[in-house]
Amino acid sequence: MTRWRYAAQTDIGLVRQSNQDALYVDERLAIIADGMGGHAAGEVAAALAIDLVRSTFRTTPSVEGLVDAVQTANRAVVEDARDTPEHFGMGTTVIAVALTTDREGIVAPTLVHVGDSRAYQLRDGALRQLTDDHSVAEEWVRMGRLTPAEAAVHPRRHQLTRGVGVEETIDIDVASLVVHPGDRLLLCSDGLSNELDEDTLARLASAPNGLELAVESLVASAKVAGGRDNISVILVEFDEANVTASPIHRTMTGAPPPAARTSSTPRRRRWVTWRLVAALVALGAVVAAFFGVVHWYAYSTYYLSSDGGVIAIYRGQPHGVLWYPPVKVAATGYLVNELRPGDAAALRSTIPEPSLTSALHYAYYLHNAWTLSQQVATSTSTTTTTSVSSGSTTTGGG
Ligand code: MN
Repeated sequence: MTRWRYAAQTDIGLVRQSNQDALYVDERLAIIADGMGGHAAGEVAAALAIDLVRSTFRTTPSVEGLVDAVQTANRAVVEDARDTPEHFGMGTTVIAVALTTDREGIVAPTLVHVGDSRAYQLRDGALRQLTDDHSVAEEWVRMGRLTPAEAAVHPRRHQLTRGVGVEETIDIDVASLVVHPGDRLLLCSDGLSNELDEDTLARLASAPNGLELAVESLVASAKVAGGRDNISVILVEFDEANVTASPIHRTMTGAPPPAARTSSTPRRRRWVTWRLVAALVALGAVVAAFFGVVHWYAYSTYYLSSDGGVIAIYRGQPHGVLWYPPVKVAATGYLVNELRPGDAAALRSTIPEPSLTSALHYAYYLHNAWTLSQQVATSTSTTTTTSVSSGSTTTGGG
């Protein structure tokens, strides 16, 4: 059996007008959602996500059920945002740990994650971060475009590349956790992790005087450090722990692949058949993995380029990979000849972006920068006003 005890707290912080974080925790599921969106939309997204993950996971308490629960929540938030004008643009992070049951009946912890809320594991006073932030600056660090120090102060460090309710399809990070009795897991929204450094998190979260007190001191310290955002914390401690028979660590899009069937009592006369089947399955897995990796590499990124004088967004690598050419996924409506000259040149040699959302934001930014430069030119010069809006068309490569 795997069993945990828990404590949790969510706090509005010192600056925000409302708490757009939501959390839920019981004997099998711990989840935090950090909602975003104008008016009350962030609260709606977070509450909707928590409700649906809870109810879906309760009916199917497996890894597949947990991933499906996040996808169900994603669809519900996308549909609500589409059907309710005041909810346009809303979304939420989701970080959840659940005690999932595998095919052997073994109960073990599984982590699912979308966004920039975090999970940490604590053992013997040491802290280990289990999640990658899905933010523009952190993705750039992983691509090698920024150093961690540059990312910490980058203006796009809070811009998410993935969120629940943002797009129809969603990539969900899934990982089986190996825990020992006495280990703790800390789940938190960025209102905690932005305010406290890792040493402070480690010290407060492993304090020996009980989970409730540890949670209270984490929230209180985040407020002392500024409390600039909503703060949510869940702390669980394992009394007993199992290790799953079919561990998983991957990002899942769409339906999760079935876990490999492991037979615990193979019968002798079926041995050859089993080996043959295993060999064929292994061969199939290698071929599938090869195509999967090539396809992933080919379509893992987006870029901005010109399409007939209009800024367009392409998914893929600019020159294609093997038999996967780049695919145009959106035309922004912004004209290439309405760009600052440096930006137009950058666009001609294509501008990489980690996600569709960030590509759209960047196109919008480029257009705004040009508009702003026009206003500055107009207001500082009384003689020339519209010298840039000539009829010349710039067409870049694409
Ligand atoms: Mn937040």
